[in-house]
Amino acid sequence: MNITFLGTSSGVPTLTRNVSSLALKLSQKAEVWLFDCGEGTQHQLIKSTIKSSQIRKIFITHMHGDHIYGLPGLLATLGLSGNSKGIDIYGPSNLKNFISSALKNSYCKISFPLKFFEVENSAQTNTNLFEDELMEVKCASLKHRLPAFGYRVNEKDKPGQFNLEKAKKLNIPEGPIYGKITFWSES
Ligand SMILES: [Zn+2]
Repeated sequence: MNITFLGTSSGVPTLTRNVSSLALKLSQKAEVWLFDCGEGTQHQLIKSTIKSSQIRKIFITHMHGDHIYGLPGLLATLGLSGNSKGIDIYGPSNLKNFISSALKNSYCKISFPLKFFEVENSAQTNTNLFEDELMEVKCASLKHRLPAFGYRVNEKDKPGQFNLEKAKKLNIPEGPIYGKITFWSES
């Protein structure tokens, strides 16, 4: 995993720092996940080594403008570029309305699959917001002036490979138990 801080300037941009956004590059999936998308995040992406076409998930922490005003513009640009495979957006339940309204009223049609996932239930029940064979994402409520959510991304453990030499060194008797043992890749 590789993290790029695209914006760390809280509510107002400065000459050298933009408003909130963070990109998580998952090399094992060739995907980028974005966390928040303040205004100007597109420019920050252009200046970075992140490929916008690899953005597959966007997680929004809360509905304050410095976290979401860049999202309609980014989606519109990705739509124009025509190379997005689809984006899943996770956030508060009113996010879908905000994005749909911005796109509809600016006569913008997104050419790739766009899905919205409300996060409130996952936060309340402490259940996984997302899970596949490599990753899992949980979310939890945060204290703020409006409903806000934090996200935790876990990379799942990768099974190791059986190491005969190590098994012998540890005096593990030969037999069916060998089939149940894996070792981490270090010696
Ligand atoms: Zn806020």
